[in-house]
Amino acid sequence: MKNTICIVLLLSFALTGFGQNADQLLLKNFRPVSVYAIPVTIPAKAKFPVIDMHSHPYAQSAAELDSWVKAMDQMGISKTIIHTMSTGSRFDSLVDAYGKYPGRFELWCGFDYTGYDKPGFGQAAVTELERCFKKGAKGVGELGDKGAGEIYSKPVPGYGMHLDDARMKPLLQKCAELHMPVNVHIAEPYWMYLPADSTNDGLMNASTWKVDVKPGMLNHAELMKSLENAIRENPKTLFIACHFANCEYNLSIAGQLLDTYSNFYLDISARYAETATIPRQMVKFYTQYQERLLYGTDMGMGVPMYQITFRVLETLDEHFYETVTFNYHWAMNGFGLSDTILKKLYMKNALKIRKYENER
Ligand SMILES: [Zn+2]
Repeated sequence: MKNTICIVLLLSFALTGFGQNADQLLLKNFRPVSVYAIPVTIPAKAKFPVIDMHSHPYAQSAAELDSWVKAMDQMGISKTIIHTMSTGSRFDSLVDAYGKYPGRFELWCGFDYTGYDKPGFGQAAVTELERCFKKGAKGVGELGDKGAGEIYSKPVPGYGMHLDDARMKPLLQKCAELHMPVNVHIAEPYWMYLPADSTNDGLMNASTWKVDVKPGMLNHAELMKSLENAIRENPKTLFIACHFANCEYNLSIAGQLLDTYSNFYLDISARYAETATIPRQMVKFYTQYQERLLYGTDMGMGVPMYQITFRVLETLDEHFYETVTFNYHWAMNGFGLSDTILKKLYMKNALKIRKYENER
């Protein structure tokens, strides 16, 4: 009997990790579990109807699309903006596939950079933009630049061009003319530009997504400058910088752009873990810029994914971990945003973008 108890105890120690040697524990295996007996609130659905301003064509089949729409219904998502980053036949086939659910999805296209490194680039790309627009593209997204100027598009990436490159101008101007908002992913969270060493605050993600700024590439501050140049030089084009413009480490940078330029919005997608570390600062930011922030996900199409976003935005839960979804080792905290702010974030501000689209 004594032996049996010993074996049971040993087994339970092994299962609960008592056998681990902290000196040999790898950071990537650190999976803390909160010990606090405090409220755990998993929202059944969004408190108010939502337009998700940032997603991608995750559904690979009609069946996946069906289950995505079911998840949207369950979670209170009335519409999802799909950033296809595509042109040509790929864009067309996505429009056709997502057309199965009229009104539930809005597809945005990319730019066609074919020949961007040769003289004469521009007219054909503008013509393709107009064609995508006629096919149903309501906006452009997402364009992206982490420093190398890839500026994201399929099938031809525009390596070496930044958002304020003169070659982008005719396209950005055409977007203004067609009232197509432009979603831009500029830079990455700051710690991805810092040495991935023992002092790096976001090390677990920084080591995976590290941006190695090679000669000729732009660093974080220079990327912000390229974004500001584009916003300033194209005042009739409406820009949405996704992921808080990757300024969660210093929100005053994004705040200053919002203060200065009325043709500028932020989407909050895929930065839940990065912002849930500083809940009081975030509530201040959401309060100050409540007219200019747009809800987005950018993290797939599953019910638990939506729930995490609502938990961060709506609840006052503290010290909870989502290490699988987000890969950070830190604990998160809810913001408990007011109903007024939530309604703007989820829907009202997106309707302002829709109004802009409809003013064409
Ligand atoms: Zn995205």
